[in-house]
Amino acid sequence: KKERAIEIEDLYAEICNGSRLHLSKAITLLESINVTDKKAGQDLLKKLLPQTGNSIRIGITGVPGAGKSTFIEAFGLQLAERGSKVAVLAIDPSSTVTGGSILGDKTRMETLARHKNAFIRPSPSSGTLGGVHRKTRETMLLCEAAGYDIILIETVGVGQSETVVRGMVDFFMLLVLTGAGDELQGMKKGIMELADAIIVHKADGDNLKLAKKTVREYSQLLHFLQPATLGWTTIAMPVSSLQKTGLDKVWETITNFQDQMIVSGVWNERRQSQTKDWFHSMIRDRLIDNFFSEKGKRELVTDLEGQLLSGDITVANAVDRIFSNE
Ligand code: GDP
Repeated sequence: KKERAIEIEDLYAEICNGSRLHLSKAITLLESINVTDKKAGQDLLKKLLPQTGNSIRIGITGVPGAGKSTFIEAFGLQLAERGSKVAVLAIDPSSTVTGGSILGDKTRMETLARHKNAFIRPSPSSGTLGGVHRKTRETMLLCEAAGYDIILIETVGVGQSETVVRGMVDFFMLLVLTGAGDELQGMKKGIMELADAIIVHKADGDNLKLAKKTVREYSQLLHFLQPATLGWTTIAMPVSSLQKTGLDKVWETITNFQDQMIVSGVWNERRQSQTKDWFHSMIRDRLIDNFFSEKGKRELVTDLEGQLLSGDITVANAVDRIFSNE
């Protein structure tokens, strides 16, 4: 027990010193399924909590192939070169289900990964989306305590992970490709309504003209949608990560957003409601875990499913039966 306390002291000091190795070790503790490791991770997080919150948290989504990792590398490098400390985290819904991953592992963004001002952590590869959500949020806080002032959280534009990431960032952007005509129809309006900026990506070479047209199409469409952030008008802009054009404009947009939202109070309100939502979702997760870890509960549910499908009982009856013998 004493050794554990020393280990936490050591991690604390090294993380405050900017050691990436110790930051990684701390994240591994938080991700662990071992109860004592997890507890140590939480103790450390609690100690670091006063140093968290001082970053811009940015979410990035887009379908596979939209160029997310290329964008993050180019954008992240530019920021790191200017002296910002950039952490890149990921939520990969595919890895939680199959263990395989759409976003790939650490070998992506190699140049950024080697930069002294950058830290890249691949998606936690096990657990439910709820579990991954917790780990990513806690990792984000650790990175902030370690002095990272820009956190980029990447996710794939499939499933519910966009909503999860929107719920933990200040600014959310959607990477799209040209040929909006088709894409706009296929795209869920819901995803666009989560975004504070829409990046029309790969706006270079033969594609540049079409990209500009696509930006206009998105701009028109955005007039009819609900903005993601109160008081902010979501904008569409062309970017090429290969030619490094439009990246400055993205950063300028994000800093404008931050300035305006801090003044209006929306920045703080959003962070507070995100923390509350996180708390509530962890309560729900815990209740569900506790419920199913009780002996016989899974069997009871399966049994009642059978009765339900053969028309013997109603859904409400079944639910009553589950909770009546508590
Ligand atoms: P992800 O699946 O969204 O992470 O996409 P990747 O970053 O792996 O990029 C997918 C493909 O698009 C790769 O072949 C990239 O070289 C290409 N790509 C990425 N960004 C650009 C860009 O700005 N311009 C062009 N022309 N191609 C790009």
